[in-house]
Amino acid sequence: MRQKAIPALETLMSAARTIGNPYLERAKKAGRKIVGVLYDEVPEEIISAAGAVPVLLRGTGSDGTELADPYFRELTCGYTRHTFNEILNGKWDFLDGAVIYNSCDHMRRIYDNWVRRPVSPVYSFIYAPKKGGELARRFYAEQIRDFLHRTEERFCVTLNEERLGAAIRLHNEKRRLQRELYAMQKGRRIALTGTELLLVMMAGKSLPVEDYNALLRKLIASLKSCAETFEPGVRLLYMGAHADEPLFFETLESEGGQIVVDSTGFGEQSCELDVREDADPFEALVSYYFEETPAVPRKFGTAPARAGHLLRLVKDYAVDGVIVTRLTMCDLWAFEQYMLRPVLEKQGIPSLELETDYILQNRGQLATRIQAFVESIRSSRGS
Ligand code: SF4
Repeated sequence: MRQKAIPALETLMSAARTIGNPYLERAKKAGRKIVGVLYDEVPEEIISAAGAVPVLLRGTGSDGTELADPYFRELTCGYTRHTFNEILNGKWDFLDGAVIYNSCDHMRRIYDNWVRRPVSPVYSFIYAPKKGGELARRFYAEQIRDFLHRTEERFCVTLNEERLGAAIRLHNEKRRLQRELYAMQKGRRIALTGTELLLVMMAGKSLPVEDYNALLRKLIASLKSCAETFEPGVRLLYMGAHADEPLFFETLESEGGQIVVDSTGFGEQSCELDVREDADPFEALVSYYFEETPAVPRKFGTAPARAGHLLRLVKDYAVDGVIVTRLTMCDLWAFEQYMLRPVLEKQGIPSLELETDYILQNRGQLATRIQAFVESIRSSRGS
């Protein structure tokens, strides 16, 4: 628990705890458009280049799925249900646009159902290939070109090189600032608890980038000057998809372990590399999102790269144990847990596989498992 509040940190964390926030309201009042997106393969820079604000679609704050349930079969994951429930609940009515892609078959059903509603902000669906290679790259580039044209039409703007280049620089600045935060997590003492880190990263998908960058600068200055740091008893790495409820993060750290780094699409993976600024902006965006960013489980043939990325994070952040989480019904991450198991075992890295719902139902049970995991790491090293 932090002894002295840091205003910029409080502001960022509070933006992550809700769907809307005062910064979005201000942007909207100033005439900017707000566009809901999904990570990891929608180039947000194209939306920023149009003067609009990209925000991550999520179901934060939902307490049920009654409205959404008739739209989905029972095997659909909680992220999809809760997010669509909040859409039907009117929580996302402030959107001026939405862009969906085929990350997985669960999530793409949000598009199928949303686009058939009497009023829908969805104006683009990106079919992102699951394979690599030149043919798939060309296809992805066509999809992104189509998304770009639809964005131009939607917001009556021409997205020329100058605009795209400026947006790339803006988002790269965000990534550079975020990397400064992660650098502060590598030492024996860390600057942010895992919950703080993850919520700050989530805020990066929830605020106008200009406001976010300004808040991050203030946060980094405060962290460097206030010097309140933490020494984790057990250093954990968190990975998983769409388990983004703040209470879940707090539970992961409730038993004496601390998350020093993550491997998530909204977290470390989103800022590890910059989009190239010395190339044609459109081509640079295609290359970045198609093949340069850390590989994600939906991409065929990338398991060795994903394992290598994880092992590098474990080493760089001196991680004691890895927590791999899947949401109930998430087949993609069930396979990821299965495939990472031998990788971590072979390296002698303790790991814990968790299954949870999008809205935490099983806090006590989870805490018990985390407690046992943390204690087993402690006892194995005799501390
Ligand atoms: S939690 Fe899994 S199934 Fe649900 S949207 Fe994410 S990747 Fe797809």
